Amino acid sequence: MTSFSLRKYRRITIKIGSALLVDRARGLKRDWLDSLAADIGELADNGAEVLVVSSGAIALGRTILGLGRRALKLEESQAAAAVGQIALAGAWSDALAGNGLKSGQILLTLGDTEERRRYLNARATISTLVKMKAVPVINENDTVATSEIRYGDNDRLAARVATMMGADLLILLSDIDGLYSAPPARDPNAEFLPVVERITPEIEAMAGAAASELSRGGMRTKLDAGKIATGAGTAMIIAAGTRLSPILAIERGERFTLFRPSAHPVKGYKTWIAGQLEPAGRLTVDDGAVRALMSGKSLLPAGVKLVSGNFARGDTVAILSPEGREVARGLVAYDAADAVRVAGLKTAEIETVLGYEARSAMIHRDDLVITGHAPEKEADHAESA
Ligand code: GLU
Repeated sequence: MTSFSLRKYRRITIKIGSALLVDRARGLKRDWLDSLAADIGELADNGAEVLVVSSGAIALGRTILGLGRRALKLEESQAAAAVGQIALAGAWSDALAGNGLKSGQILLTLGDTEERRRYLNARATISTLVKMKAVPVINENDTVATSEIRYGDNDRLAARVATMMGADLLILLSDIDGLYSAPPARDPNAEFLPVVERITPEIEAMAGAAASELSRGGMRTKLDAGKIATGAGTAMIIAAGTRLSPILAIERGERFTLFRPSAHPVKGYKTWIAGQLEPAGRLTVDDGAVRALMSGKSLLPAGVKLVSGNFARGDTVAILSPEGREVARGLVAYDAADAVRVAGLKTAEIETVLGYEARSAMIHRDDLVITGHAPEKEADHAESA
């Protein structure tokens, strides 16, 4: 991997974790930020467009307010974020300006990427910023996000931004240098993986249990981010951000894990569907329906075994195999109550039950994206459909 070059990537999203930017006792790590800003300047000189997703608002606000390590109530962390974000944005603006770069702050809430119209609006603003040669510095709007309506971790937010903006590379700078066959803190024999061709269930199992309480993200959300990114054709790198000039370190041949983009990425409208972070409901289907979906067909009510969640018509729902594995996502044509009534029915029976003429498909193929892995031979078939 020593000959790896970032030069072929034209639009790069870089995500920075809180621990890299903020020292609990001393606050912002300015030297480190300056070295990263210089790296970004170099990428820009080579013609790349760079977008930054920066964590650190809550951590920095905590330090500035002297809140120590104690657990914060929701309104306290929102207040800490308000204090931290203004300092964070100022620091980014200064550091990038020191390298001849303009910047602009974007704060997103979950609805800004999950609702189609707001997604298009956010995309237009960020595109304009990029066109004006200002580096977008993006974070979650933590001052108004409550636990029900938040991304919660910036790994998935960064993947959502990268795919929304059609980035060809997402770099997650972390306190770990990549993916290991098991969490290395717990397993001394864990092996480092330099390249991941596809995020299969075996790869997901390597992430171990949920993240530690210190990091919101952990490896699990990084792999979730990887699925969103690679499925939309964006390559992803997990690299250590703990050293100075962490981006140039990648070029110099320090190790990292590269997740290759899918050879058959979903495009446009379907990228938005596939990257939805919280599906509003779940439809468990039979094996016949799984096969039909994999060969590019719509989901018919006849194949639906179980409906769960309280969704409205047009919401995104996940489609699960009989074993409970997610195989696809799509925009559902019925609300939850009607979906329950028509589940298992043949098309001809639907109108009698509902009392009105409805679309026969539960999810039309145009509104449906395969997100899971079928058994190998079926996956190949599905991807060419
Ligand atoms: N948005 C949070 C912050 O800036 C960080 C979320 C995360 O660590 O992933 O403090």
